[in-house]
Amino acid sequence: MVYDVAIIGAGVVGALTARALSRYNVSICLIEKEDDVAMGTTAANSAIVHAGFDAEPHTLKAILNREGSMMMEQVAKELDVEYKNNGALVLCLEEELYPKLKALYERGIENGIERLSIISGLEARALEPNLSKEVYAALYAKTSAIVGPYELAIAASENAADNGTTVMLGTAVEAIDYSKGIFSISTEKGTIECRYIVNAAGVYADSIASMIGDNSFHIRARRGEYMLMDKSAGTLVKHTIFQLPNALSKGILVTPTVEHNLLVGPTAEDVDDKESKATTSEGIGHVLEQTKRILPDLNFRDVITSFAGLRATLVPKGDFIIEASHVHSHFINVAGIESPGLSAAPAIAEYAVKILRAQGLKLSKNSEFNPIRRPVKRFVNMNEAKLKAACAENPLYAKIICRCEKVSEAEIVDVIHRNVGARTLDGVKRRTRAGMGRCQGGFCGPSVVDILARELGVTQDKITKKGKDSWILTGRSK
Ligand SMILES: Cc1cc2nc3c(=O)[nH]c(=O)nc-3n(C[C@H](O)[C@H](O)[C@H](O)COP(=O)(O)OP(=O)(O)OC[C@H]3O[C@@H](n4cnc5c(N)ncnc54)[C@H](O)[C@@H]3O)c2cc1C
Repeated sequence: MVYDVAIIGAGVVGALTARALSRYNVSICLIEKEDDVAMGTTAANSAIVHAGFDAEPHTLKAILNREGSMMMEQVAKELDVEYKNNGALVLCLEEELYPKLKALYERGIENGIERLSIISGLEARALEPNLSKEVYAALYAKTSAIVGPYELAIAASENAADNGTTVMLGTAVEAIDYSKGIFSISTEKGTIECRYIVNAAGVYADSIASMIGDNSFHIRARRGEYMLMDKSAGTLVKHTIFQLPNALSKGILVTPTVEHNLLVGPTAEDVDDKESKATTSEGIGHVLEQTKRILPDLNFRDVITSFAGLRATLVPKGDFIIEASHVHSHFINVAGIESPGLSAAPAIAEYAVKILRAQGLKLSKNSEFNPIRRPVKRFVNMNEAKLKAACAENPLYAKIICRCEKVSEAEIVDVIHRNVGARTLDGVKRRTRAGMGRCQGGFCGPSVVDILARELGVTQDKITKKGKDSWILTGRSK
């Protein structure tokens, strides 16, 4: 078949674009090289829905950040994704830096951000008693929020699939040809034909564009390293705490996550390898040192894991590129989507649809579109009565597989059998949290492998950690 639109890249941008398009009567195919959605930049970031005071006024970054952040609560509600409007503070630690804080406030006002104010160090400490006494003043952004980034992309692709989108995983795009109004996309799994392409390939968007001869932009990966702290540290701060941003990034921040952990980081370092997701002792050392300045009581014994994400930074640095390619008007680049790309994603998706329409894609409303994703019934959120009812329906709700995060077997089975269901150990982890706790899967990992093998009808040695050749079992030991 010839699809109306093929979207390359199932990160948060591609997934939400697929969902936005599935409101219309068009055939859509979402193509992803990894064996699951949301494995690129969307998998590892600060998970903050930025208020929108940061971006240069009148840029797409500023406009779509504001719009996306206003849409996010509703989108998260429809997709059954955790969202919390926890507010943010940008700290000014030295009186001499106060003009920089003021400039940030003024930029926020120019960007149309509401509920923004500057407060004193004393007021900041009243909101967050664990902050350092050094805090001189702070920018208080009440609309800032936190969300589950990969959950959002998983849920959006699931909902897009429920509404008719074809999702092709493990399907790397290798070449693109165009003839007589049809693109032929060569992939490792054969050719896909379509009339329009949305290039949402994250750090690889430049390689995808160059497949049609569009070499108008270049993307570098900028690595950001993090440490994730146990839930015991999760209450140390309620707000997202930033330091004043620098030229490379928004600086080292501390934020609660929607799952009640605490996240600290990220660093900002340009790297040549677009797969370079290792953490380094220098990076983690820098995060430690910077965090101690603002939260002296943070206990780094509470670290449960470290990880890194890669920003898709345009060279030279610039605004998001969301436009039809100059090489072909039916090829839409959605590129250079670095921060605030997560916050802006719902608005980026709508903007991409608008461009497709402007380029001639006929869009009539799909009367069967259902914006609501079937909720994931979670043991951890059930009171006794709800648990009793759930167990009466399915006794597997009473069988706990992950002790740290209290995940039942029923939830794991459910997420395996959904559209865009889990196929890997990490796929289960990212959908249910089994393996995300203090022991990082040491206890539940083997049971999850068993359940995946049973439900997928394969032997256990066919189950991988995150797809491709990340085998868990490589042979018998006895
Ligand atoms: C350290 C860090 C912190 C951040 N913090 C925040 C934050 O707090 N708030 C915020 O708003 N934003 C933040 N961001 C930015 C945000 O994470 C990104 O803007 C967003 O995730 C980009 O999503 P995407 O879908 O464009 O890219 P991705 O998630 O990278 O998706 C692109 C997809 O394309 C696929 N792909 C690539 N090549 C091919 C191919 N050849 N064939 C098929 N598929 C392909 C990839 O596998 C990938 O899944 C942060 C980013 C980083 C790195």
